Amino acid sequence: MARYFLSPDLFPAKLWQLFCHMHLPEFAQQAKKLGWWRSLDSDRAKPPSVVELETSGGVLLKPPLTFSWYLKLIGIYDLSFGQVKVDTCDKCDNFKHRFAEAPAGSEIEKKVSAEWDEHRRGADTSYDSRNADANTTNKYYPLPLANDEKPAFNSLKKVETQTQDFGGNLRTPKLTVGEAYYLRILATFCYSIFSQARRRTVLYFWNEKIAEKGANNCVSIEHYQHLHYGSGATNLIKWYDGTFS
Ligand SMILES: [Zn+2]
Repeated sequence: MARYFLSPDLFPAKLWQLFCHMHLPEFAQQAKKLGWWRSLDSDRAKPPSVVELETSGGVLLKPPLTFSWYLKLIGIYDLSFGQVKVDTCDKCDNFKHRFAEAPAGSEIEKKVSAEWDEHRRGADTSYDSRNADANTTNKYYPLPLANDEKPAFNSLKKVETQTQDFGGNLRTPKLTVGEAYYLRILATFCYSIFSQARRRTVLYFWNEKIAEKGANNCVSIEHYQHLHYGSGATNLIKWYDGTFS
């Protein structure tokens, strides 16, 4: 399952405190005033003194959701904190691994390094080529097609460029029911098609209970895309997963 990354400025305790601020500001205000976030540091810090408590109204408020529960949710959703590297792929991961394994200064290291450079040069060439295709389409469609504009199939002697790929699975828990359902996350598949002629991305979603994630589903999406968001262009350039086809 894909990992989800949250801002590197966040960490679980901060996230939980923000959650409390949002859902029970009275609790958050009291916690701040007393310097005691109940359930977060109940084991580590002493509860506030009677004097402190009295100055803040005398009643200890409870958090809207305990910190331990919050941590459990972070675990269930496999949330991480930090920046995801954008320019990476399976091949790069493989090179990285082989490079790390190779003895320093060895022939193997040099070989891996050379192959990796070659791969990165190829990727750059590929990005340049994709940009060139996008620019070509921009010339044919200086103004992007409007949402309600649906030129007939093959009616315009123009070039359209589409970039498409499967996205990570969107996790869809059923939040309105019991705890057990948190443990069963439904896979919602996601496929995106970016149309350069429209300067717009269309995201297609479906649940694992409705259909699978395969070639047939892609074809259905293609069909829908051409019917509803077609560009009318006689030439279509497709970029799948960053690879020219
Ligand atoms: Zn790569």
